[in-house]
Amino acid sequence: MVLPAEAGQNPDNQLLANQTWERCLAVIKDQISSLSYKTWFQPIVPVRLYEHDLTVQVPSQFFYDWLEEHYSTLIRNTITSIIGESGKLYYYVASEEPALTPPEQPEHETLSSLSESARTPFAPHVPFRTENLQSIRNNLNPRYLFDNFIKGDCNQLARAAAMAVANNPGGTSFNPLVFYGGTGLGKTHLMHALGNHAAANGKAKRIAYISSEKFTVDFIESVQGDKVTEFSSYYRSMDLLIVDDIQFFAGKEKTQDNFFHTFNALYQLGKQIVLSSDVPPKELHGLDDRLISRFQCGLTADLQPPDLETRIAILQKKSEENSLELPPNVIDFIAANVTKNIRELEGCLISILARASLENREIGIDLAKDVLRVVVNDIRTPLTIEQIQKIVCEYFDIPVDLLRAKTRRQEVVVARQIAMYIAKDLTNSSLKTIGMHFGGRDHSTVIHACQAVEDFLKTDNNHKQHIEQIRRTIDLNK
Ligand code: ADP
Ligand code: MG
Repeated sequence: MVLPAEAGQNPDNQLLANQTWERCLAVIKDQISSLSYKTWFQPIVPVRLYEHDLTVQVPSQFFYDWLEEHYSTLIRNTITSIIGESGKLYYYVASEEPALTPPEQPEHETLSSLSESARTPFAPHVPFRTENLQSIRNNLNPRYLFDNFIKGDCNQLARAAAMAVANNPGGTSFNPLVFYGGTGLGKTHLMHALGNHAAANGKAKRIAYISSEKFTVDFIESVQGDKVTEFSSYYRSMDLLIVDDIQFFAGKEKTQDNFFHTFNALYQLGKQIVLSSDVPPKELHGLDDRLISRFQCGLTADLQPPDLETRIAILQKKSEENSLELPPNVIDFIAANVTKNIRELEGCLISILARASLENREIGIDLAKDVLRVVVNDIRTPLTIEQIQKIVCEYFDIPVDLLRAKTRRQEVVVARQIAMYIAKDLTNSSLKTIGMHFGGRDHSTVIHACQAVEDFLKTDNNHKQHIEQIRRTIDLNK
């Protein structure tokens, strides 16, 4: 069994990796379009250079597959020209566990009971290979931070608790801190962010992040290699132990037993434990009651599917991270259609970028529709400013043209202000775009209108009722 080594990354090594990768990028950049370069090469992070082996980190398995399918020759040639004939490139997929090698004779809790992804070594052909990189920064993914974790009502408690614990591991009553929620809602991201933050502020020296599947595999190997004591004492020496997806402990009695003792040892020493699960702890089947009651003695915080605003903010952030500007209507369109899972939201974004770059297409609604057709059964077109104008005008019984005209008739002014206010609230359009839809008015007029409506809302019940009724009609038209 390979126990996570403690040595961190050697700074010289990191510097060399950065320099070498920079030289590779300079070669690559000249040979592909700028969009492809931004989409597929900028997100790659150099990790280390050891002799002729350069290791880089890619954001996902999908990303790796894409690189291999479309750019393997380019990358191979570049590596050969920069590092030489013996140069090799190793990949590390950020969001996944490192490759595992199953032991020959699994015993009791067998590896065959683990998921395919935990067992299959990751695409091992040169120059694309992964290796066990557990030693790197305690297994924490440096890309998952609080800074790029978007706040929303859906994750408010979980995020606040994660932050509190990261600032004072073991020192709050949130011990253990348990996150639960469906897949793709940010549990893993938040746990890494917590770990990275605690590592950066020096509040926890020894930190380990591990999934329960990996913990199980390592435990089985430690039993086979007669190294259970080393295994146990490693995890029991942590200041902060983060275990992801504890639902996979279900039915693994011996592993659970070992984890129970690890949990108790850490807890008694006042060390911090952070866990995640896809259901609330009390609904975890196949887990020992003793463990479940331990999990419930701290704080359990849920992550819910994101609301529209949060989905839009996430898409904006992700496109920013990829140095790309997505038109607001495309962001609205994706956000309106992909509602339940943030991973899927990101997947759509990547697919759109990929197709734009490979098919040389403009990033617009047509392309977004083509991509989303594969993911979503019933594509919804997001609310447009024109629809809002139509509904508001029907409500006040005035012709839509008047909203764009110069008239200052009182009822038109009120309708115009309300339509602007709702457009600002319910679409992702900029003030400038909203102004354009109202006869080319200035963005300051839109600000003024929104302010006027907000003032009315505080003082005027009639106004409030108009707006509530209009919103209900909009909801019905969705
Ligand atoms: P889970 O562990 O709950 O299945 P992940 O943490 O792996 O979900 O999140 C899936 C993807 O969505 C990740 O790429 C993550 O960065 C992103 N993500 C989830 N929540 C947020 C958020 N609030 N802000 C930004 N990105 C998020
Ligand atoms: Mg996860």
